[in-house]
Amino acid sequence: MFSIQFAKLIFVGLITNYLTNNNRICLFSPDMAYQSFIELNTGTTRNFLLPCPGGYLLVDTSYSRNYKRFLKLLHKHNISVQQIKYLLLTHHHHDHSGFAMHLRTQSNCKLIAHQKALPYLASGTISAKLKPLNSCIRHLLFFIRPFMPRAVFMPVEVKPDDIILQQPKTEISDILGYSACIIHTPGHSDDSISLLLDDGHAFVGDVMMNLPLCGLKKRPFLLEDESQVIQSWKKLKDAGATKFHPAHGKEFNLRQIGV
Ligand SMILES: [Zn+2]
Repeated sequence: MFSIQFAKLIFVGLITNYLTNNNRICLFSPDMAYQSFIELNTGTTRNFLLPCPGGYLLVDTSYSRNYKRFLKLLHKHNISVQQIKYLLLTHHHHDHSGFAMHLRTQSNCKLIAHQKALPYLASGTISAKLKPLNSCIRHLLFFIRPFMPRAVFMPVEVKPDDIILQQPKTEISDILGYSACIIHTPGHSDDSISLLLDDGHAFVGDVMMNLPLCGLKKRPFLLEDESQVIQSWKKLKDAGATKFHPAHGKEFNLRQIGV
């Protein structure tokens, strides 16, 4: 019994330590400094704020219990909730949409999501198709499940002026004020989307993860379809992505994925 408890503690400690980064402000390149983005680490999910006319576009939220922490981080950067003009959900899972409704109530931001996310956002539940990548992950889940929040979240209301995507690729330069597009990148979930900027930076949600576990090699530890995941990586590469910012784990370069 002691050894199982000890293993749980070691594992959770390892993951927490790996995921905890300082919150950073990054510049894409000196000549594109206006495209600076802010990374906020709410504990389990990395959130990104990208400047847009009049405020910011936020990539993903986190578990609902992390909302207060998110507000503190915003305050630290002298940003008000009302300055968040858009919330882009890379997919519907509860660690990405957990406090989406809290934020929308306070900020009145427009939602950007894939059409396939809508049934889950309406019900506040996640897809049942999610499965472990391999048997190593299946065994690890035995240890971490007791520490994971229940897979439910406050349902997210969709309004008529929200931006609901259906196409494989959608230009959003008019929203950000600089060249960018959203690419449908399924595999982790049917509704997964990635935000790709013109200079190769891609905010990929969970279609890639950078965690030191079970030989993941940048694959998500939970997914619906592994071959779709790899296809989505190829799509991103073909569209010009060179630097990947996953929601879990640190960013990495194109040469670190074998496609
Ligand atoms: Zn996910």
